[in-house]
Amino acid sequence: MHLDTLATALAGEPAYRIKQASELVFRGLISDWDEASSLPLDLRAKLKAEVPISTLVPVQSSTSSKGDTQKTLFRLTDGQQIEAVLMRHEGERNTVCVSSQAGCPMACAFCATGTMGLKRNLESHEIVEQVLHYARLLKREGDVLTNVVLMGMGEPFHNYDRVMDALRLMNDPKGLAFGVRRMSISTCGIVPGILKLADDPMRVNLAISLHAPNDDLRSRLMPVNKAYPLAKLFDAIKTYIRKTNRKVMFEYLLIEGVNDTPEIAEELADLLCRENPDGSGDPTPLYHVNLIKYHATEVLGSAAERFGLPVDARTGKGTFPSSPLDRRRAFQQILYDRGISVTHRITFGEDIDAACGQLANKET
Ligand code: SF4
Repeated sequence: MHLDTLATALAGEPAYRIKQASELVFRGLISDWDEASSLPLDLRAKLKAEVPISTLVPVQSSTSSKGDTQKTLFRLTDGQQIEAVLMRHEGERNTVCVSSQAGCPMACAFCATGTMGLKRNLESHEIVEQVLHYARLLKREGDVLTNVVLMGMGEPFHNYDRVMDALRLMNDPKGLAFGVRRMSISTCGIVPGILKLADDPMRVNLAISLHAPNDDLRSRLMPVNKAYPLAKLFDAIKTYIRKTNRKVMFEYLLIEGVNDTPEIAEELADLLCRENPDGSGDPTPLYHVNLIKYHATEVLGSAAERFGLPVDARTGKGTFPSSPLDRRRAFQQILYDRGISVTHRITFGEDIDAACGQLANKET
């Protein structure tokens, strides 16, 4: 729901009506104005005609065979498509991963969204509506949404103001009331965005998509590294930690033969020790590595060629392979033995193309 549209529709009403109506949407999690029984009938009809509770239209939804992941493809009012994914950690938490842009300009070699290019930035209400969609769904099941992560399509720091507006709305105690510790922004490494967040009063969690421990490999995987190489990236991260005293999470997708060898694990441990904010060269609890199983993904032929992977002559595309469990375990063990704080994320939704951009790319 767009709050400006609500304010316009209720312009002739007593001021408290705006608060009442927005609380019904954000706290009451109504999905239709017909459910707003505390509002007069004529007002309900007016709101139904003029203020859509959601501007997103779910066009495709799939649930993993284990039932722990649900992915929805939404159509926006201008026809663009975005994705959001719900991950259920049984009895623990329910996390929704939302998009900040339709498409993405960052062109990471391993990412389906990266092959689409940027379509447009999302409005803040379009970001919040993805969250509301799953909050309503969980409410119907007698459950609650507990965490939000900006790790879907797009680079959140390229849409900074709207992303932060959306997070503020979610944080509002009269709204969804998500604590800042339950909301995370994941960036591919946009240094000005990290520095801006360091000064922002919204102390949400910061995650960095790292995926490589040296500039040569990282630049081949993530073109953003040419603009913001590791030295600059870690300078910004250290500034962020100095100003916020918060931990930083490093996301690391493991792609077989590309970035999952024992030598690269050692190099990653070296990097994280060398860049310890206290300058000691020791491991630091302020850095946490989250190893993620990569979902094998079709990529541009040029990206596959950069890593010596075969290219299909018919489609002109290649595939980045998923790192097998034994290699992922070995990688994790090396980091662990070196004193690095590390977890190996359970993979959600492999059978439903849950990785970023896979569903929208198939549709478009
Ligand atoms: S991984 Fe993230 S930043 Fe990189 S292309 Fe995909 S959506 Fe964009």
